[in-house]
Amino acid sequence: MTGVEDVSRLFSLSGRTALVTGASRGIGRAMALGLAAAGADLVLVGRAASHQDTAAGVAALHRDCRVVDVDLTDPLAARDAAADIARDSSVDVVINNAGIITRDDVLSVTPQDWTRVLDVNLTSLFFLSQQLAAPMAARGHGKLINVASLLSFQGGIRVAPYAVSKHAVAGLTRAMANELAPHGIQVNAIAPGYIATDNTQALRDDPDRFTAITERIPAGRWGTPADLVGAAVFLAAPASDYVNGHVLVVDGGWMAR
Ligand code: NDP
Repeated sequence: MTGVEDVSRLFSLSGRTALVTGASRGIGRAMALGLAAAGADLVLVGRAASHQDTAAGVAALHRDCRVVDVDLTDPLAARDAAADIARDSSVDVVINNAGIITRDDVLSVTPQDWTRVLDVNLTSLFFLSQQLAAPMAARGHGKLINVASLLSFQGGIRVAPYAVSKHAVAGLTRAMANELAPHGIQVNAIAPGYIATDNTQALRDDPDRFTAITERIPAGRWGTPADLVGAAVFLAAPASDYVNGHVLVVDGGWMAR
């Protein structure tokens, strides 16, 4: 390390192509725009109709942006779309961000909700990553970043399928990291704390839950999608080339308490 130039190179994504799932809004949108600001071209994967705003934001940062229309409730469609993308583009970074949550008592969870949450949050994540990791391995470098959760560590309340999916994402991150590290691919995860997005609207609409959660956060506030951008750029960039299988908690201190 000799100077400032070297430090900025560590966090530069210039010349890289990053794929982000679920970038229409919330955390995925902030991460996609953050990666573009760091120099990456983007492939946005999800429901195309909802991604036009983010695509325009990437274009305004003078980066290339392509939107690929996939419904991630269908893991085979996710796998096939990723295989097509891998044939057309050299993807250096994947952020598996798309995720859904259902809120229901353990005694009332339906098989449909169970399957839908697991398909979007886990199974599509795995098969999409698998297809994009193969060419990364052939090139000898790549970054896979999974969006985990505090419910990768805790059970939560009325969110059993979601907690199962996010515990599995943490385990899968480590399993994939072990096998892919020898190929120059770093697999890591980001576990956001309580972030003000559509995903947590129901909690913020419940005054008791909102107050109880806010009081337990050492930072004294909920996070915003912008709070996740630094972690995403770090795990996408050369700065994290010796970080493997880590779940980086960005939670205002919730897990430390
Ligand atoms: P949002 O609900 O704001 O956004 C979810 C994103 O996922 C949207 O882009 C949505 O696309 C996409 N998506 C959902 N279902 C599908 C599907 N079937 N096919 C394709 N895309 C889909 O959520 P957040 O930004 O809050 O969450 C992003 C990630 O962060 C998730 O994995 C979530 O579990 C995780 N997380 C969030 C926390 C929080 O406090 N907000 C805390 C911990 C983890 P569309 O607009 O088309 O519906």
